Amino acid sequence: MARVSVKIVGLSADWAAACRQAVTHLNAVFSAKRIKVVLETNGASVTVISVRTDASIQGNAVHGRTTSEFNSAGGMLRAEVRLPVNVTINTPSGLRNAGPGILEVIAGHDFVHALGHDEHNSHLMSQTMYKEMGDRAAQDKLRAGAIHLPPLALSDKSVATLKALWG
Ligand SMILES: [Zn+2]
Repeated sequence: MARVSVKIVGLSADWAAACRQAVTHLNAVFSAKRIKVVLETNGASVTVISVRTDASIQGNAVHGRTTSEFNSAGGMLRAEVRLPVNVTINTPSGLRNAGPGILEVIAGHDFVHALGHDEHNSHLMSQTMYKEMGDRAAQDKLRAGAIHLPPLALSDKSVATLKALWG
């Protein structure tokens, strides 16, 4: 089983927690769908996804920026995921920080990009997502079409793409 380390050193507590949740929940999806890769937060694998925040990404964005490098044989070398420093959501009483579920979806989407899934389709890998405010921040979601995330869910197409990359 291929192992990929997700390095979250230096992230804020909120982003670190969101990344850990994304790793846990993506691993559950990968296992259920028989995608042969395991993410490990700050793991020992030489294949590393480095995660950092980038102040040039706007706070109203629901997308990070990811670059990923593979060798000519299709093996992953490394990836860098950049996340917005703060993600905000409009509420009737003004702007507040988006809840942990929204951060988890943003991180999870970009981790899947980091694993070589370049295209957008639906579910977690939708191009366009809309913030939906919960009564509490913990209930905030992102909506992609008719689907609300979290939980992290991959389309059949994304599962096939990841299987082609990771076996
Ligand atoms: Zn994307």
